[in-house]
Amino acid sequence: MPCTCFARSAAPWGRDGAARPGAGRGRWSGGPQGPDGAARKGACFDGWPSPARGDTPRPQASRTKTAMARHLITSAIPYINGIKHLGNLVGSQLPADLFARYQRARGHEVLFLCATDEHGTPAELAAAKAGKPVAEYCAEMWQVQADLAEGFGLSFDHFGRSSSPQNHALTQHFAGVLAEQGLIEEVSETQMYSPADGRFLPDRYIEGTCPNCGFESARGDQCDNCTKQLDPVDLIDAYSTISGSRELEMRATKHLYLRQSVLKDELAAWIDTKTDWPVLTTSIARKWLNDGDGLQDRGITRDLDWGVPVKRGSEDWPGMEGKVFYVWFDAPIEYIACAQEWVEAGKGDDWARWWRTDRGADDVRYTQFMGKDNVPFHTLSFPATILGSREPWKLVDYIKSFNYLNYDGGQFSTSRGRGVFMDQALEILPADYWRWWLLSHAPESADAEFTWENFQASVNKDLADVLGNFVSRVTKFCNAKFGPQVPEAGAHGPDEAALIEELEGRVRAYERHMDAIEVRKAAAELRAIWVTGNEYLQKAAPWTVIKTDEARAKAQIALGLNLIRLYAILSAPFVPNASARMLEALGVSDAAWPGDVAGALTALPAGHGFEVPEVLFAKIADASRAEWQKRFAGTRDAA
Ligand SMILES: [Zn+2]
Repeated sequence: MPCTCFARSAAPWGRDGAARPGAGRGRWSGGPQGPDGAARKGACFDGWPSPARGDTPRPQASRTKTAMARHLITSAIPYINGIKHLGNLVGSQLPADLFARYQRARGHEVLFLCATDEHGTPAELAAAKAGKPVAEYCAEMWQVQADLAEGFGLSFDHFGRSSSPQNHALTQHFAGVLAEQGLIEEVSETQMYSPADGRFLPDRYIEGTCPNCGFESARGDQCDNCTKQLDPVDLIDAYSTISGSRELEMRATKHLYLRQSVLKDELAAWIDTKTDWPVLTTSIARKWLNDGDGLQDRGITRDLDWGVPVKRGSEDWPGMEGKVFYVWFDAPIEYIACAQEWVEAGKGDDWARWWRTDRGADDVRYTQFMGKDNVPFHTLSFPATILGSREPWKLVDYIKSFNYLNYDGGQFSTSRGRGVFMDQALEILPADYWRWWLLSHAPESADAEFTWENFQASVNKDLADVLGNFVSRVTKFCNAKFGPQVPEAGAHGPDEAALIEELEGRVRAYERHMDAIEVRKAAAELRAIWVTGNEYLQKAAPWTVIKTDEARAKAQIALGLNLIRLYAILSAPFVPNASARMLEALGVSDAAWPGDVAGALTALPAGHGFEVPEVLFAKIADASRAEWQKRFAGTRDAA
């Protein structure tokens, strides 16, 4: 059922749109990356609405303030069945938040979206295990995940749900237009049916004896004992895991397939234009495009109750009654629906200028964040949906994908409770400790590993000894010797000039790494910026200078206090809570990104009051480390 905002938008993607001025120009995804690139081949792009650049009134901000860019940022949407571990967090949501916070700090317009991915068999199974109706289970788990996201400081503009009415309507819309474009095939097949349960059974709802190894609890899709991929009909003595019934029979059923193979060349040409994407991303996409028989058509419907009912737009789809769309078809569409939810929630007033290239989105830069396992769906399946619709939806401009984070000599395991999960992490330490370690060790070029020794060392050294200690020394010394106001600044000597010159170079390098989403490099540069201040302080030694030259000691400390302000601003994307505490202690209202470092270091004038903040970062003791190491070794229930 369409929500009001959906109806209000007068279905800008509808068939009636084809009659608009400019129809048939054939410019597709738009955006600065070169819309007229190689992907526009064949006759497919004729005859759908796509006004030429300049035909449509565009938002003022992007035209009058040329320096202001518009960033649409999405994190891969976490699945609903349970609490995510730190490996999940650093693979999408956390680096996406880093980038969103940074772009906002630079003065750009940002729409940062995430949601829960709620459909499919695992949600049904998890709800059954919890003894709850699946809708109720999903609503509860959405709240749990939303609270944890808030706890970690994830600054989503909206945290939506793939089960929203907006996503239902939009998913059905896409299926309808893909069918109109001849890209949906109805395929008759047979599937296991359980009369006792009154339903078709997905593979995971069927167990039996493995024909390969004799294991008695092999699943319909795979044997957990010998790992052989199975088909439910292969199982010996198969039974329904819902009712236990063994009276299973093969029945004819019909499913919809998205004809991705038809779009293969178009997708390949589009990927070829992405020369700036990480090799990790494009190599995975090309493997799926070309390996074996090439990109395969994909079934996009399932015989399930929980999901988006199969419809052709708003019309019923004969023969598809009682079926839902496959979770991987509707989940990425939620990126768009989430923007509609954001409007519906009263947080924004125009989703289309972010998502429709005929409504202003052609000057949006769209960046997606995800783990490498999600790359095929984002480089091929979702673009196939968008391209195949022949409607002017925004395509992704840049995909930042991550390798895996391993845990202490093995893998994180949700099923075995091995590793640290988001709720547990916040129970033992504040979010900034985790944010700093995870981001500064992000699995970018290869898999990374979390060890407690490394975590302890990183927190104690980087956060406590370097950043925290600098803030503490400067504010305490000033408060004790000169009182809680910024002292008089003085003329810079060679040490101050060298400090400023070094910082100027480092801040610009930090910006370059952040712009390029080189997370580890950015963290290393930020740490070097903190270290530079410590080294200056150590060399300047105001605690000695004060004995002979009080004015000079005051000038050094005035510079130190201004450095704290600069550090708070630069560090905010990584450690937002500590940054806020630093700014609060300094009584800073102007936290604008530094233009030039010399200017930024004069922001706090003489006489400006401050407070000595509480300890910013406590060190992790060996005893705590050892206790946590033991506690998180496996089976979270035992904790
Ligand atoms: Zn087996």
